[in-house]
Amino acid sequence: MPAKIVISEAYCVELEEIVSISEARRAYFSLPTPRVRFTFQCTYSECLALKKPPTITGVNYASLPEDTYRAAHFRDPGVGHVEGCPWQDDEPAASDGNQSGEASTKDREAKGKLHDFIDEFDGTSVKQKAVAGVAGDAGTESTKRQGQGRRGVAKGNSFTNRNSTSSFVRLVEYYRNAYKDLSPSEFFALRLKVVGEGEMSLTSYFPNVSRANPDLPPRVIQGGARLEPRKGRGFMLWFIGRVDGKGVYLRVTSEVMDKYRFRGFFNDTLAQEDADYFRVFGLGRLLLSDSGKSYRLEVEDLNHLTIFAAKKQQPKPEADSLTSVGIDA
Ligand SMILES: [Zn+2]
Repeated sequence: MPAKIVISEAYCVELEEIVSISEARRAYFSLPTPRVRFTFQCTYSECLALKKPPTITGVNYASLPEDTYRAAHFRDPGVGHVEGCPWQDDEPAASDGNQSGEASTKDREAKGKLHDFIDEFDGTSVKQKAVAGVAGDAGTESTKRQGQGRRGVAKGNSFTNRNSTSSFVRLVEYYRNAYKDLSPSEFFALRLKVVGEGEMSLTSYFPNVSRANPDLPPRVIQGGARLEPRKGRGFMLWFIGRVDGKGVYLRVTSEVMDKYRFRGFFNDTLAQEDADYFRVFGLGRLLLSDSGKSYRLEVEDLNHLTIFAAKKQQPKPEADSLTSVGIDA
């Protein structure tokens, strides 16, 4: 029996844009308290044009995820959609006529077991948006958001592109879900097309910091890290893993934090007192620091950084087997 399509994105009325559940959470934790939950609607343009667009339920996005993933997701009550709304169809079979070969067959099979998956990631487009964001300060915020909303709706119409994204948080969400839900061999079979670079295995795009190569183009460098006591509004994290025997740090200055729309998400995550360490995912490259004694993870944009609070206890059996082959998610 074909499964019904799982809603991977929804139109957020308050934000006036289409978001994945992780993006919704990031925005929610950046609201001033007391926080009011968002209203989500179907992204299909004809559904959105209705007097009463169909409502989509956001589940668990109003709590911070811990390292052991607490699955947040959208749920579609399936009420009030227009006829022909693509989100009301059955999930197409996970096969792709354009691809062939054993590697892609395994990739399709593994992706077929996931709720949401990503075939193509564009890490270049955030740059332009960020530039626009810096130029448009508080005074033009609402115009900017309207603009984004319209773009977002247009994006929702190209339903066939739903497995292509420029959302870094959605990419990380996919990686973490795949790590949790797939067997190690399925997880290692996943492929990702990276705009500007070509296709590679998902795991090679997500190197643990201790295996990150400073000579490579930007990668999603990830690993556990410890927070330096915070002074000011920025923060500094030291990775537990080392590169060539050198420590690796990530530093976000107060000025950069002040400009970032979703800084509340970082502040709340880093304030979790029961965290033993933090798991960091940052798209960027390693640069040797001026002293030559350490590496700095240079992340171009805070939209390319996400952090989860982590606890030492609760080792998962699957996590152990993956760690033994050099992956930790
Ligand atoms: Zn709809």
